[in-house]
Amino acid sequence: MKIGVLALQGAVAEHIRSIGLAGAEGVAVKRTEQLDEIDGLIIPGGESTTIGKLMRKYDFIDAIRKFSEEKKPIFGTCAGLIVLAKEIAGQEEAHLGLMDITVNRNAFGRQRESFEADLDIAGIEEPVRAVFIRAPLIQKVGSDVDVLAEYNGEIVTAREEHLLASSFHPELTDDYRLHQYFADMVREYKGLGSK
Ligand code: GLN
Repeated sequence: MKIGVLALQGAVAEHIRSIGLAGAEGVAVKRTEQLDEIDGLIIPGGESTTIGKLMRKYDFIDAIRKFSEEKKPIFGTCAGLIVLAKEIAGQEEAHLGLMDITVNRNAFGRQRESFEADLDIAGIEEPVRAVFIRAPLIQKVGSDVDVLAEYNGEIVTAREEHLLASSFHPELTDDYRLHQYFADMVREYKGLGSK
């Protein structure tokens, strides 16, 4: 089972490492043709405006929408979550516009640009150490979206069918359980059944 990491900008190597720890093969995706070779895709953190621009430049917008139509799982972390969202507060245009969520970029403000917290995530037994870096939060979710985690009453992890999104960076710690959760989703949608 191969899981791609969109490698236009951002924390790519760290995700590939975590995918490996979760027992799947991680591949850096730089060209749209590579989407045919993978079973799931991670869109990493970085800067969403830059990632969005590069996605347009290298024709990833339609290619990833097609990937999603085939119900292949996609996991957006931090800026990747912003890129997945149908609505970005205060911004006219979304990027992929796939997931029925409204996000607020840089929601935690300058005071708390970066911080760590232990999060209870639905479907994962013990709390997960979460690293937030200029993190977005999810302001609103559609009726088909499941909220998996909140921090101080704000939504920071959610899932809509084959789409998963987290405000924080799960690839920056040794805790690979959210990658494992995603790998299980990929396995499930691939028809191999969850382990
Ligand atoms: N705040 C960034 C953005 O708006 C995301 C930060 C991150 O990915 N660590 O794109």
